[in-house]
Amino acid sequence: MNNVVESRCGILCTECEFKESMGCKGCVNIDDPFWGECPVKASCEGKSLEHCGQCVEFPCELLNSFAYDEKQGDGGRRIKQCEKWGR
Ligand code: SF4
Ligand code: SF4
Repeated sequence: MNNVVESRCGILCTECEFKESMGCKGCVNIDDPFWGECPVKASCEGKSLEHCGQCVEFPCELLNSFAYDEKQGDGGRRIKQCEKWGR
């Protein structure tokens, strides 16, 4: 079981293809992601939370729209991961 918080939204950066190809350290470890601004990261860090699962609004509309996005989503997998990380 993976208890290390790897992202704000619940994506597992250790399984991401860009980790190696882009040398990405994961969104919790960087201020300016190479892919541009992420509203989830900004929202989460703005509330001084480690990840979305700690938020009173979890899982909010924004997070849901990312998680269930037809092209970029993961069918809600990241939300489940936030639940695993817990509060
Ligand atoms: S979508 Fe945003 S919060 Fe999720 S891993 Fe990427 S930068 Fe982090
Ligand atoms: S669950 Fe939504 S409101 Fe809460 S930190 Fe994440 S993106 Fe922001």
